Amino acid sequence: MYVDNISTTGFRNLSLEGVKFSAGTNILHGNNAQGKTNILEAIYFCALGRSLRADNNRELVRFGGDSAHVRVDVYRDYSFIIDAHIQVNGSKTAKTFAIDRMAVKNTRELFGRLMVVLFSPEDLRLIKSGPAERRRFMDMEICQLSPVYYSDLRDYYRGLRQRNQLLKLLKRDRNQLDSLPIWDQQLMASGRKIIKTRAAFVAKICDIAKEIHSRITDGKEVLSLTYQPNVQDVDNYAERLARSHERDIVSGTTSVGIHKDDVLFMINDIPARNFGSQGQQRTAALSAKLAEIEIMRSSVNTTPVLLLDDVLSELDGNRQKFLLTQIMDLQTIITCTGLEDVLAKGMSDANIMLVKDGEIF
Ligand code: ATP
Ligand code: MG
Repeated sequence: MYVDNISTTGFRNLSLEGVKFSAGTNILHGNNAQGKTNILEAIYFCALGRSLRADNNRELVRFGGDSAHVRVDVYRDYSFIIDAHIQVNGSKTAKTFAIDRMAVKNTRELFGRLMVVLFSPEDLRLIKSGPAERRRFMDMEICQLSPVYYSDLRDYYRGLRQRNQLLKLLKRDRNQLDSLPIWDQQLMASGRKIIKTRAAFVAKICDIAKEIHSRITDGKEVLSLTYQPNVQDVDNYAERLARSHERDIVSGTTSVGIHKDDVLFMINDIPARNFGSQGQQRTAALSAKLAEIEIMRSSVNTTPVLLLDDVLSELDGNRQKFLLTQIMDLQTIITCTGLEDVLAKGMSDANIMLVKDGEIF
């Protein structure tokens, strides 16, 4: 699948009018702060209904403006259009989406239409960063493959917020203590499904990433990924939550559940987070990202659009070469500041676009 063209109004600093992409490699180059990452973000927003980096959608709307619109035309056996609108109204910001002009009622309908894999310098730090980043890594991929997972996550986090509110209330007044088990049930209903899906996903990605990692390191390193659920035995889920009540009331937060999960990366049976060299950690992250692409390719029979934000310059020559040979058959949109580097990598037949002040030349 590929993004055929994009138009934006009022989205960050961008003003794009029917900018056409090639189905192969596209290079967005330009000085710092011109809007290269913003273009990837606009595409990402149409794919996943959320921003790459902003917590609040309001940040996506041009300073001083009150609405933003992105339209992408996508080709995947047939063409279709995704429209994304953000509307600011006082302190409220609303986002709405449409596919081929038909309103999308639930963000979940958006998943799996335009599929993307984003690879940014933060992803290269996947192994080193905190567990939240690794949960995000699982969630973003699984959502695109299984929209029902998104509903489970949404239910879970909604329940979690409400349980936490109740905990804070109970700290002052124990009157509503009977409601706590009701929220435990809510969390378990979606939590159990999430644990199952994450376990299957990590097992799958482990197999593929292991093979890729072995190829990059000429067979010298064995990579493994292990899902580390906070609730190791789902049969004990209810008991774990029940036992946490007192502690949770004191802290005002929920200490047990899928929002505490992690993924353990090991290289040659040693935890990469604590003992891996920087290069090993980056190679492991690269292997995991490339495995994501493979999973999409095999599960949905189409190739995702690969968004590479400034990563080439962070990889050494060998890893760059490996990455570039792996992505020959998919649409790739690469951002970089200097062109010399990419041209030297034999990408002179790519579609090269200069980004300046939010426009493309
Ligand atoms: P770099 O090479 O440093 O990564 P970039 O080309 O990727 O730069 P972007 O992050 O895409 O740059 O764009 C940053 C620019 O967009 C900044 O100048 C910033 O001020 C501007 N910008 C960000 N959000 C908004 C907004 N809501 N309204 C207007 N401009 C914005
Ligand atoms: Mg950038």
